[in-house]
Amino acid sequence: MDLTPLTGDTLPRNAAASVLRTKAELRSALESPRRLGQAIGLVPTMGYLHEGHLSLLRAARAECDVVVMSLFVNPAQFGPGEDLDRYPRDEERDLRLATEAGVDFVYAPSVAEVYPDGFSTAVEVDGRLTEVLDGDPARRGAGHFRGVATVVAKLFNAVGPDVAYFGQKDAQQATVIRQMARDLDFPVRTEVLPTVREADGLAMSSRNAYLDEDARERAVALSRALHAARRELESAGIEPEYLEARDAERLEPVAELNGRPVLVAVAARVGGARLIDNVLIRP
Ligand code: AMP
Repeated sequence: MDLTPLTGDTLPRNAAASVLRTKAELRSALESPRRLGQAIGLVPTMGYLHEGHLSLLRAARAECDVVVMSLFVNPAQFGPGEDLDRYPRDEERDLRLATEAGVDFVYAPSVAEVYPDGFSTAVEVDGRLTEVLDGDPARRGAGHFRGVATVVAKLFNAVGPDVAYFGQKDAQQATVIRQMARDLDFPVRTEVLPTVREADGLAMSSRNAYLDEDARERAVALSRALHAARRELESAGIEPEYLEARDAERLEPVAELNGRPVLVAVAARVGGARLIDNVLIRP
């Protein structure tokens, strides 16, 4: 009997994550864990991993017997003129980080494996969730979420996870996927984990790789602005009745500054008074 103490390298948990390229390979790799009733966790990603992804992988590692990470830059969720071609990729590094995070299987299919010739089906979640904010026709459009919902439905079918992990940074995406899973009876629990940020507050994103020095410095204003609103209200112990961004003239809800002035308005009870205030943001 070999009594050599196990080193990190020989522990199964630190074995290199197995890379699977096809649904058939995936199915056969998961056959035995499924038969044994092991809990399977899925973390869908487009790769170029950062701490945000790693937080999802670690949660899956802590909660599940088997961890599957998908690595697929999904063309269906990129619109014409978006950054599909220059989306950052580094599979070798991703596999190393996935292994370090304890991932068992990396499912990294080709585009043809996911969308073979003749592919002609899509999963579409109601426009109330998919045609607003990022899905607004003036922004990425509902086609973005059709691409997301379709690929995640396919991943749920291919992997059959008990739990799937998503990040709060893509809040609308997480909401759309939850709705899709509920409506289509996928027996999966979706976990949404907090946004992981750089030290200065910038939300981590693979696309931060596009930022040059000047843009990187300015980008921190997004999180500063959001946090200032929350912090100021919280520190005064004020819970707003509403805090809304609306078109300054039509008073319709707006998702972004689309060339028109936006009114950000708040109302709250403070002591015995009901107070209102607003600021006008001119593009
Ligand atoms: P992506 O590779 O950008 O498609 O992201 C894959 C998953 O990681 C999605 O569920 C994202 O919401 C999540 N994610 C991306 N960035 C972050 C972050 N900064 N914090 C937490 N989760 C994130």
